[in-house]
Amino acid sequence: MNARRSEFIPTSLFLGARKEHEGAKVMLFGCPYDGTASYRPGARFGPAAIREASQVLETYDSRTKIDLDNCAFCDLGDLEISHGDKAGTLLQIETVARDLLTEGKIPAALGGEHLISLPLVKAAHAFFPDMVLVQFDAHLDLRDKYLDDPLSHATVIRRIADLLHPSRILQVGTRSGTLEEYEFCRECRNLEANADDIPRWISDRPVYVTVDLDVLDPSVFPGTGTPEPGGVSYGILEDWLLSLKGQNIIGWDVVELAPHWDPTQVSSIVAAKVVRTLVSLTAVC
Ligand code: MN
Ligand code: MN
Repeated sequence: MNARRSEFIPTSLFLGARKEHEGAKVMLFGCPYDGTASYRPGARFGPAAIREASQVLETYDSRTKIDLDNCAFCDLGDLEISHGDKAGTLLQIETVARDLLTEGKIPAALGGEHLISLPLVKAAHAFFPDMVLVQFDAHLDLRDKYLDDPLSHATVIRRIADLLHPSRILQVGTRSGTLEEYEFCRECRNLEANADDIPRWISDRPVYVTVDLDVLDPSVFPGTGTPEPGGVSYGILEDWLLSLKGQNIIGWDVVELAPHWDPTQVSSIVAAKVVRTLVSLTAVC
């Protein structure tokens, strides 16, 4: 339960990443937890699939004009997760994020399911009380409880709203929720698809970015636990992400890749490219 750095399980490295911490600001680490998956489990296999798929990408990102080979960022490996111990896992993730933030680093988590964002945002909020959250997701994730459980992938943003206030959450790409969630969300700011609106809404506040990959249409990204038709193309998500260029991004996560639901493995490559984009926006290059 104590999350010492030595408890990371060594893994292969994400494309262009280093093991050494020196000079690096972005610290990738895997959170292979999917304990509250309600429909199709398997997000615990996300971090390994992202790292493997990253090897088919170029280190050069033609849109940001950044070559990861010229950037310092670190891949710490995976947290060792005790799947039956949800409270312990959340504490473990929060402790790791807090340690990294204490060192002035940017925690960058590979999920895992969306609940992992809660401890990550909790840790960030302790350092940046004026922070805001940008959530890319098909789902509002604003239920107060799901199956009687207040801590679930379906309640994660509601718990974050308890912490931050709904007005400090921007939901982008959402298209699924209960009537109660939509009513709660009147206080949230929902945008449709205009990339320019995102930096305007952030307005120079420290921002945490959570990417639930099911924001993408299932035709683009079938490898996920709760696919939701009516999503965006990869290009639109990339435009949204690139609109964050120059923002003070204090932490980020990419969640809900469940690779085995996509036998083509394209979902893993899509997830790896999203991670590459976020690295190029936040690494020291
Ligand atoms: Mn979702
Ligand atoms: Mn979600």
